[in-house]
Amino acid sequence: MGINLDIPTLSVVCVLLAFTYSISLALIQKLQPQIKGINLISLALFTLGVGFLLLSYGNNATLWLTKILANSFIMFSFTLILHGVCQLRGYPTSITNHGYYALPLVIIGLTYFTYFSISTHARIAIVAIYTSYMSILTFYANHKGVAEDIAPSKVLLSSGMLIYAGYALFRMVYLPFEHTIKDFMVASWVHQYAFISLVIMIIFIGLSVTWMLAGRLVATIYDTSLKDGLTKLYNRRALEELVPKEVTRAFRFEHQLSILLIDIDNFKQINDIYGHQTGDQVLREIGRILKVETFNNEFSFRYGGEEFLVLLPETTEQQAEVIAERIREVIARTPLLPSHRERCTASFGVSALRDGEHWESLIERADKALYSAKRSGKNRVVVSD
Ligand code: GH3
Ligand code: MG
Ligand code: MG
Repeated sequence: MGINLDIPTLSVVCVLLAFTYSISLALIQKLQPQIKGINLISLALFTLGVGFLLLSYGNNATLWLTKILANSFIMFSFTLILHGVCQLRGYPTSITNHGYYALPLVIIGLTYFTYFSISTHARIAIVAIYTSYMSILTFYANHKGVAEDIAPSKVLLSSGMLIYAGYALFRMVYLPFEHTIKDFMVASWVHQYAFISLVIMIIFIGLSVTWMLAGRLVATIYDTSLKDGLTKLYNRRALEELVPKEVTRAFRFEHQLSILLIDIDNFKQINDIYGHQTGDQVLREIGRILKVETFNNEFSFRYGGEEFLVLLPETTEQQAEVIAERIREVIARTPLLPSHRERCTASFGVSALRDGEHWESLIERADKALYSAKRSGKNRVVVSD
């Protein structure tokens, strides 16, 4: 069927590809040592390369080397891929035990069908079952892993594993309809194309993992440039980017937009009495409360030292006041200080966007409202008039 492919050459191509991606992943891991799993995947591809190197010696070396050891390396590499993907994608690695425990058994099987009851078909079936099972588990771990990665990179990795597994299973089903193979190096198209599915898998693994890492790197850079290290809320720079954008959007779509400006009460005292560490902890906790109490399209910023700004798109002044009152209560109710008798509170200034108003004026009015909340006794919400 189709083009006749040369198995020894295909083996060499697999070796080269596996080694190339193994080296490039190892180099990437050196750059980002904190990311788990890359070294394992690199080792897996190296092992796979060694397996195919041994396999490509074909009939020029002992059976033990070209059949048993080569296939064992290849199968082991699939378990390592699974293990590496579990680590990389944040899935429990206990799933890899299936692979490690089954490996000695399948090696015994390979030995049996090499020396005692010689059958290339049986050997192919063993390797196909084992590797496709590992590929399907890898697909599953990739799919279920909790690490945040860009979706297309996950799809690419899954596709690589499924293409390989699908073809391996097809090849196994096809085996009974084929004559016995005398020399694997000149085996039929079904076996030739198995190498192609493997080439696709290697390339997809290499590309998707590099893509994932690039995605994570961009996310980290984005986080550090727009987020505040202490509270993990957006920082002032993000505010100056996001607030004008949201204001323009509110005008264009004729939406309401409101903001809350929040200042912790007597924070200097908290620092003086309990120390800066506690002060920082309070800031962190209030950052957490703001995240919990706001929705997806609402943004919380650390505006200054102990001041926060919450941006509420599509929210009227009255709704904003209700939200502010709710957050004020949560802060006042939550034990944030080492002394359980004392409560940390905050004051709120609320303002809603007026027709044609500049975003800086919106914040200024919230600031004035906040100032009057402070003057009239703190721990309260004042709406800008
Ligand atoms: P008021 O109720 O009027 O707001 O009084 P206050 O003491 O909270 O207000 P003030 O603005 O005078 O004090 C703010 C303090 O916040 C001063 C500063 O030392 C402290 N601060 C600012 N940034 C940080 C920080 O990152 N960590 C800690 N622990 N303290 C901070
Ligand atoms: Mg202040
Ligand atoms: Mg304060």
